[in-house]
Amino acid sequence: FFVSFEGGDGSGKSTQARLLADWLRELGHEVVLTREPGATELGASIRHLLLHGGHVSPRAEALLYAADRAHHVAEVVRPALARGAVVITDRYLDSSVAYQGAGRDLEGDEVASLSLWGTEDLLPDATVLLDLPPAAARARLGRALDRLEREPEEFHAAVRERFRQLARRNRRRFVVVDADALPEVVAEQVRERLKPLLPP
Ligand code: C5P
Repeated sequence: FFVSFEGGDGSGKSTQARLLADWLRELGHEVVLTREPGATELGASIRHLLLHGGHVSPRAEALLYAADRAHHVAEVVRPALARGAVVITDRYLDSSVAYQGAGRDLEGDEVASLSLWGTEDLLPDATVLLDLPPAAARARLGRALDRLEREPEEFHAAVRERFRQLARRNRRRFVVVDADALPEVVAEQVRERLKPLLPP
């Protein structure tokens, strides 16, 4: 079973992915908790280029995220799924459609098809969208911001809108959770909404 967490910067994805992993392990599942970009050695180099390198042109940026994802799926995600583990990833292809599609004005379907080619069409069984207005998210990000997090509020508003649109268009896969609450409250929502979808 393959679950992705999606949402803007500061929406709580890492925390919620970890809390879901803890809960599923208590239920006896083997869980692999991973993230994009940067879960593999190659991915860590790509992540560094993307977040701390200089300017990256939009199509190159989309290809770098897709390359990170292709390698991540081949090396980590597919092997884990093949042995029956639950895989939880902090970001997956919807992030590319939202960030490179809406934020950078590339065609969303084209961005998605890069990732689908790269992953041989691996889509999550469930995608949790942690929905939060950009202003609230920004207030949470106390630490130093990376290159993307420093983008103007309109960029983050466009990204959020695209995530919500993706959720409306893929209702069978998406679960949208209001992330403007305490972590434990959000986690409870996530568990409730995922319970019917999980394997026994
Ligand atoms: O979620 P995390 O902080 O690891 O993501 C790293 C950065 O990459 C974030 O600032 C996010 O905005 C950006 N990102 C992106 N396009 C993606 C995935 C992440 O711009 N496809």
